Amino acid sequence: MDLVIPAPVPPTVAVAGTAARFPVRRIWCVGRNYADHAREMGADPNREPPFFFAKPADAVVADGTEMPYPPATRDLHHEVELVVAVGRAARDLDPAAALDAVYGYAVGLDLTRRDLQGAAKAKGHPWDMGKGFDRSAPISAIRPAAAIGHVGSGTISLAVNGQVRQRGDLRDMIWSVPEVLAHLSRLVELAPGDLVFTGTPAGVGAVVPGDRLEAAVEGVGTLQVRIAAR
Ligand code: MN
Repeated sequence: MDLVIPAPVPPTVAVAGTAARFPVRRIWCVGRNYADHAREMGADPNREPPFFFAKPADAVVADGTEMPYPPATRDLHHEVELVVAVGRAARDLDPAAALDAVYGYAVGLDLTRRDLQGAAKAKGHPWDMGKGFDRSAPISAIRPAAAIGHVGSGTISLAVNGQVRQRGDLRDMIWSVPEVLAHLSRLVELAPGDLVFTGTPAGVGAVVPGDRLEAAVEGVGTLQVRIAAR
């Protein structure tokens, strides 16, 4: 096939224990999936159906990266999240069978330009420029479910410059991983290579150039990134 411009290199994520990599197809994110974070964002934490937004696949940033502070914001926020890596095509999943679609798990940061997101919310505009910007999805190496099992509880935390800012437990998700996958698979056909960011506990806040972010999910791994000047 002749292409009129060079084809983009597919974004990939490291997989722990192998040199082979996970190709990223799409990045889906769940909003407000921990009650304490829903409350801190001024939202009703009652169990409304989950809602989703997306980031470009090439927003992934590898563990250990020094990444530039993004443009067009003065309020870049960290959101530590458990990430589910989808390994097979799936639609209309039943929660009881949804974990069969999971390849593995990783630690991610749903970096957010909170000022742009807030302005979009106020006007009823899309969140894309607040959420789906370049390098907005740092992610650790993926650990295959075949190696670590499925992840439903355990500490999720984020420290900035050694100070803990976010600390929660995966069991406090409003919608569990199987429920998130079941809902999402009724809205889109899940495909191998999809990543699903599953929401963040309370304690989100701003970072500035020079900050070192250390995210961790018990049983899954750790992720470090440093924010550099633009
Ligand atoms: Mn988030």
